[in-house]
Amino acid sequence: MDLTGKHALITGGGTGIGLAIAQDLAAKGARVTITGRRQEVLDEVSTDHITGIAMDVRNEDEVVATIAAAVKARGPVQICVANAGIATGKALHKTDMAFWRDMMATNLDGAFLTIRESLQSMRQTDWGRVIAISSMAGLRGLPGAACYSASKHGMIGLVRSLSEEYIGQPLTFNSICPGYVDTPIVTRNTASIAQRAGLSEEKARDIMVNSNRHKRLITPAEVAAAAAWLVGSNSGSINGQSIEIAGGQM
Ligand code: NDP
Repeated sequence: MDLTGKHALITGGGTGIGLAIAQDLAAKGARVTITGRRQEVLDEVSTDHITGIAMDVRNEDEVVATIAAAVKARGPVQICVANAGIATGKALHKTDMAFWRDMMATNLDGAFLTIRESLQSMRQTDWGRVIAISSMAGLRGLPGAACYSASKHGMIGLVRSLSEEYIGQPLTFNSICPGYVDTPIVTRNTASIAQRAGLSEEKARDIMVNSNRHKRLITPAEVAAAAAWLVGSNSGSINGQSIEIAGGQM
């Protein structure tokens, strides 16, 4: 696959799944802009093909200004991966408005703003691919993490709707729904899942591993491979889909 000449924007591209996608698309020739809140994290992984710009996806002005600057520097965004996200859980009766708002602002407002701003420049070209990194929790309920699950359902509704709204244009809108992937989110959440469920951290990790029929965590590279397939030149007829990468997660 040759993505030479394409400009890819990946939010949350300094770590985990976003970084794996950024490195894979860059290896295929794309110019890649990655974002996240911590410039130092982005700088560590920047290369000739990967440029990091700090922005908070919850802040409309920052998203608008950052994407405009990226377009000015590297041309219209033609690949947009809305990946930045947080994943924490709480029983609903203990969930306050601030927790709910932060989850929605990061996962759902962030995807909306990133896709909207990328679309402005994508529509000026004759080709565009949008991918939302949702979750298996966007397809099913996740007890103890209703806010997260609701935000991830929202991301799927967003791209499914766009796939119909822009039908007939050379643009596709899909989501990827991973199961448990071996990234910093899972490492951070093991302790809190264990605490909520009254389990040891080892047991909590076992539950995640055993949810995958292959009895392992998914690798970020496996998610990146699906993203690369969706942006490939022969994937233009895949539109409005949610691709599960979950090892047959139950
Ligand atoms: P990471 O924690 O490594 O990635 C999350 C990224 O999002 C970080 O780079 C972080 O950068 C960025 N981010 C978080 N909040 C903001 C914000 N307000 N503004 C800008 N950037 C932000 O974990 P993953 O790679 O696992 O997560 C990537 C996506 O994959 C998430 O949307 C997650 O929900 C989804 N996912 C992950 C699964 C897993 O098991 N790992 C399973 C299913 C879905 P910074 O902190 O510097 O801002």
